[in-house]
Amino acid sequence: MEIVFLGTGGGRFNLLKQIRATGGFRINSKSANIHIDPGPGALLHSLHLKQNLHNLDAVIVTHYHVDHVNDAELLVEAMSGSTLKKGGILIGSKYTLEGDTRGDRGVSLYHQNLVEQSYVGNWGEKKKIKTKKGEFEIEFIKTKHDEKSCFGFKLWIEGVVIGYTSDTEYYDGIGESYRGCDYLILNCLKPVYDQYKGHMATADVIKIVSIAKPKLAILSHMGMKMIPVADNEAKKIEEETGMACVAAKDEQVFGTASDKFL
Ligand SMILES: [Zn+2]
Repeated sequence: MEIVFLGTGGGRFNLLKQIRATGGFRINSKSANIHIDPGPGALLHSLHLKQNLHNLDAVIVTHYHVDHVNDAELLVEAMSGSTLKKGGILIGSKYTLEGDTRGDRGVSLYHQNLVEQSYVGNWGEKKKIKTKKGEFEIEFIKTKHDEKSCFGFKLWIEGVVIGYTSDTEYYDGIGESYRGCDYLILNCLKPVYDQYKGHMATADVIKIVSIAKPKLAILSHMGMKMIPVADNEAKKIEEETGMACVAAKDEQVFGTASDKFL
């Protein structure tokens, strides 16, 4: 099992500069290959890192903001044999698949029709997903973000538990929701609070990690203020919580084969 970061950048300013890439991350395992939040560059970085697009089993889009959904339709085309046959699994937030109150949606109905299975992730639900090679289980976790149907998740695959907060503000109970993770990926946009709501700063991550106690906390989805200080912030989180924490780098790979943490 490995987790490959095809991007560790977030935020509207980094997004257009691509100081850190915004391709999301991919879980590769014997049971399933899953691409999570394929933002702009997911396709190109997958090709660059020799991630086989045609053995992708599932795409998960936690919400329809462009830095999370932009390349999802391209990956759906890869899962469906370049649109020639139905294939793959698509899991998305309600707004991503069904649309918001204005009718905007993240993945077109045309592309939704190309997959074999599609599911809307609803907070609190736990779902077993069968792939061609095996299965994984996913539990959808509440977020507080301006895409109201956005979810975080805990995912069980080959005996490993991977948590991902997606984009969210801190709220009471979020730390408890992520207990039991081996890896917990936290979208920590900024070191300190600013006028923009809907995202976490280092202090929020400290609160979550000290309650959730993952074997390894991984920071990602970093904005312009976070990128230059990310390693220091990770060290601060380690010191405050006593849990291992790293700030992911673009193209970094974590996994049971190489990690000292598991
Ligand atoms: Zn967002």
